[in-house]
Amino acid sequence: MKLIFASNNKNKIKEIKNQVPDSIEILSLEDIGCMVDIPETADTIEGNALLKANYIKRHYGFNCFADDSGLEVDALAGAPGVYSARYAGEDKNDQANNAKLLSELEAKDNRKANFKTVIALHYNGEEHLFTGIIEGEILKEAQGEGGFGYDPLFQATGMIKSFAELTIEEKNAVSHRGKAVSQLVAFLKDKEIEDL
Ligand code: IMP
Repeated sequence: MKLIFASNNKNKIKEIKNQVPDSIEILSLEDIGCMVDIPETADTIEGNALLKANYIKRHYGFNCFADDSGLEVDALAGAPGVYSARYAGEDKNDQANNAKLLSELEAKDNRKANFKTVIALHYNGEEHLFTGIIEGEILKEAQGEGGFGYDPLFQATGMIKSFAELTIEEKNAVSHRGKAVSQLVAFLKDKEIEDL
């Protein structure tokens, strides 16, 4: 089965390919010659995931999925949330986003946060949403060199390492995206069996 993943984010593509069985071939936007930065103009994570998946369905007609993620920080009333990519400005700079997050939390004791991913799937005319959430806290300083985005500042509840200190397999086993992708894979496996 071939499925378009509506993203050119190399880190996300790597994480997802690591979790999906060989029977499901994942093609990125680059693989189908689409270099558009699909506008993320919705005001919810679900809405943006749907916008991206709908764009590919409309322009290419393929079975496809898109993910959208956000970091929701309790002491910041759920911010940056759907605006996580552009938290420190339109250029979507990870370092600037992390610096802003540390500065906003400087005087706060409550550092609880969660990561949320919504995957929107278009499969043979059906639309499905899969959601993954992981609770944790924002560290006082960046830890680790791996991962991307807010990974160096996020530590899942019960873990002693930041997401940036985990292997891809360790991160996928607990992360927001890992949980959403597990549901996607279970759904697609059922479809594969039905289609045999
Ligand atoms: P989007 O899903 O690409 O719109 O991501 C929104 C923002 O959250 C971006 O700044 C990403 O770098 C960040 N982000 C998304 N997924 C992760 C993750 O797994 N770890 C850390 N940051 C992430």
